Amino acid sequence: MHEKCGVVGISLSDRGAARPLYYSLYALQHRGQEAAGIVTHDGFQQHDHVGTGMVGDVFDQEDLDQLNGPNGIGHVRYPTQGGLGACCAQPFSVSFKSGSLGLSHNGNLVNTDEVRQELADLGHAFTSNGDTEVIAHDLARNLLEEDLVRAVKSTMSRIHGSYSLTIMHDETVLGVRDPQGNRPLCIGELEDGYVIASESAAIDTLDGELIRDVKPGELVVLKPDGSGYDTYQLVERENTAHCFFEHVYFARPDSVINDELVYEVRRNLGEALWNESGVETDVVMPVPDSGRSFASGYAEAAAEDGADVEFAEGLMKNRYVGRTFIMPTQDERERAVRLKLNPIKSTIEGRSVTLIDDSIVRGTTSTQLIELLRDAGAEEVHVRIGAPPIVAPCYLGIDMATREELIASDRSVEDIRDHVGADSLSYLSIGAITEALGKDDTDLCLGCVTGKYPYDIEGEERDRDVTRPTIGSPASADD
Ligand code: SF4
Repeated sequence: MHEKCGVVGISLSDRGAARPLYYSLYALQHRGQEAAGIVTHDGFQQHDHVGTGMVGDVFDQEDLDQLNGPNGIGHVRYPTQGGLGACCAQPFSVSFKSGSLGLSHNGNLVNTDEVRQELADLGHAFTSNGDTEVIAHDLARNLLEEDLVRAVKSTMSRIHGSYSLTIMHDETVLGVRDPQGNRPLCIGELEDGYVIASESAAIDTLDGELIRDVKPGELVVLKPDGSGYDTYQLVERENTAHCFFEHVYFARPDSVINDELVYEVRRNLGEALWNESGVETDVVMPVPDSGRSFASGYAEAAAEDGADVEFAEGLMKNRYVGRTFIMPTQDERERAVRLKLNPIKSTIEGRSVTLIDDSIVRGTTSTQLIELLRDAGAEEVHVRIGAPPIVAPCYLGIDMATREELIASDRSVEDIRDHVGADSLSYLSIGAITEALGKDDTDLCLGCVTGKYPYDIEGEERDRDVTRPTIGSPASADD
């Protein structure tokens, strides 16, 4: 599973934004490793540098030196829509009659084709098939007729889906979160300015203070002199659709989302896992690094219940295996497990083991890991997963897998257990997720674990009443 993107925007009083943006992108690197970019504005003109690769590969000293100006936005990308390569790296930037525009997007629109077709009929030419360019063109068009706030509102009334955006119009930096708040976005204060970022870990990296999450449907406009910000609640919805997987997997454990430290949420989910399906084995071990916080919560709850369970690291990770082995073919994926993880025999040999992870996607990794543990002498291998089975794909910005590739899309838990070769297998219930996050299921996106989505996605069921904007009629900022 790969997160699609991370976004950031910064306005400072009297120093360049390029370096703080660069550091923030490092802090958000886990959200996308395929491309990175920064766009700044010096009060007269826009400067940009984007490229494919990790943040450290994309920028050198010279690149940062030419990114002048105290205002800017940045982006790290994992491509799921719009193709691979430098043409689709973000921020997307465009110059038009009333100025310059830069745009960074995390999420996926689900009505891109309709909006693109309408804009193409009006004479807009596109350089990519991505949804971000569509948002940029729509906004540029609206800015010819409306002020900034009304233009953003008009665009929001036309696009449908998941989006957390940082935008730069000339030297003004904005942050926008979709009306259901699917992806995270937060605002923080620095000594000499303000920052908007996908996760609070980016604010911490700059020695800043998290102020709060950007609200679903809210626009935040940073003052270009770094002295403050204005906010506008442009769209209000009764329910939110926060992606529960941000808490389970995607976000950094040291980030705070919805006022909750992600690490603590994961530990609570681990505790719930013990309460729901705890099994007393000699040792409890995480799949590194994804299962670690769950396993520590699980083991602590087990100990509190008086279970004689040792919490230990039994699988050591080789941190120097690059992403080359993560992606392409099934064969390489299988080899990757052996390259990435090595069992500690003395922890495992002759013992019963509970292996804890956050999810099972295709089942390949779990099968390999269980085999690895048995080869290392484990007598029993029980698997506990800190999320419900993933039964359907994500259309909202996560590169998960197709329905056919998802092991749980057409198999029962018992069939999966048999397939991966575990002695027992249990997943966490949806109820435990909603309880740990302190949200009703009507305020979360649970699409990939229920097969019902909080957005109108062609060919899929919805779990609530959501209407797509009708494209073709004039957009109204008063909607
Ligand atoms: S479908 Fe799953 S991964 Fe995608 S946004 Fe919804 S909860 Fe998150």
